[in-house]
Amino acid sequence: MKVAKFGGSSVADAKQILKVVKIIKADPDRRIVVVSAPGKRFSRDIKVTDLLIALADAVIAGRPYEQELAVVVGRYAEIQRELGLDASIVGEIESDLRDRIARRSSNNAQFMDTIKASGEDNNAKIVAQVFVNQGIPARYVDPKEAGLLLSGDFGNAQVLPESFLSLKSLRDAQEIIIFPGFFGYTRQGEVATFPRGGSDITGAILAAAVEADVYENFTDVDSVFALDPRLVPDAPAINLLTFREMRELSYAGFGVFHDEAIVPAVRAKVPICIKNTNRPEAPGTMIVAERKYEQGEITGIASADGFSAIFLHKYMMNRELGFGRRLLQVLEDERLSFEHVPSGIDDMSVILRSAPLTPEKEEQVLTRIRTELQVDDVTIEHGLSLVMIVGEGMRYAVGVAARACAALADAGVNIEMINQGSSEISIMFGVKEIDRKHAVQALGHALLKIGKVH
Ligand code: ASP
Repeated sequence: MKVAKFGGSSVADAKQILKVVKIIKADPDRRIVVVSAPGKRFSRDIKVTDLLIALADAVIAGRPYEQELAVVVGRYAEIQRELGLDASIVGEIESDLRDRIARRSSNNAQFMDTIKASGEDNNAKIVAQVFVNQGIPARYVDPKEAGLLLSGDFGNAQVLPESFLSLKSLRDAQEIIIFPGFFGYTRQGEVATFPRGGSDITGAILAAAVEADVYENFTDVDSVFALDPRLVPDAPAINLLTFREMRELSYAGFGVFHDEAIVPAVRAKVPICIKNTNRPEAPGTMIVAERKYEQGEITGIASADGFSAIFLHKYMMNRELGFGRRLLQVLEDERLSFEHVPSGIDDMSVILRSAPLTPEKEEQVLTRIRTELQVDDVTIEHGLSLVMIVGEGMRYAVGVAARACAALADAGVNIEMINQGSSEISIMFGVKEIDRKHAVQALGHALLKIGKVH
């Protein structure tokens, strides 16, 4: 049995939805279909989820929102017309949205999730209708009815363990299940969403719950590439990689698969296959628990912008009991999660994502570090990128770090930070955002022998 998830561009319009139907028809093992909200049809198009965020923002700000609402409904109406579906479905979608707005709670984050989730919810209803019209027994399933329970971290929710048992019964369904991605419900019955791109997570949870043989993740590229093809156009495709490699690569910017979606699949040992809706015959990329690898082999190089670093210096830090705990307590109190903490005898740096670090929080954190930790120096730097070299074969290899550092030096890229050792299969560099592209190209050339260094 297979669980197949289709991303936003795979369900962006009628033409794409019909491809989904064809793909499901082609393999009777594809029993559960997870869908995103309609995504981009062309590069400057706007995803329905972004349209919904604009709608929720207008409502929260108390501005007139009819125009934002009309744009969302318009996207569905276009799909309905092109597919020749009964026009009543558009009216139902519009009243569903008005109803969500009318039931607005005082918690803005929760309200935002209720509106965002409608993107996948209404799209799943449309897709189910298309299947039925084509004579394929299929049924939309409400995540509430199926028991997909999430934590109450709105916009950033996590699955609650009891969900897996409830969702297991989907295995016995006679019809094809059409399940909306991206959201579930809290124990209190409120809608909560995963982080952006979270339909991948829904698919992984369902695949784990029903113990699928494979979790197929349909997107708009043939495979995962060893480097971002926007940075290195001749980047080679990766045919096979491990869960750990994929987790590290997607953490550092490989957008093709959500990094949090790996975890349920790993726990249930369900292999993942990344495939292209526009070219389903292409073999895609398989992600598995273990693979054979050669010593020194590098699977991919990933990179992501949007990080900040707090650098602290204090003589004898290494002798001060509880320093690290007190530092992290300050961050916890400000509800900031940290990504990495490279340290030396008198120094410690904390790498965090820049987005949640508002100017007010930054001020508060720096003041508390100065007064409560009595450091000799503390500075903060924004505009950092993380560049990760990932590969299982690196574990026993000698000289990868040396070659990487030499390549960055030759390219004139200043290394702000190196983190190697915590994970045996990756080496992480912190570089300035303006150097990211150059750094990736230089590493690709030196370690994978591809591309040119400019
Ligand atoms: N539609 C949501 C987003 O754009 C979730 C997803 O597509 O996976 O983030």
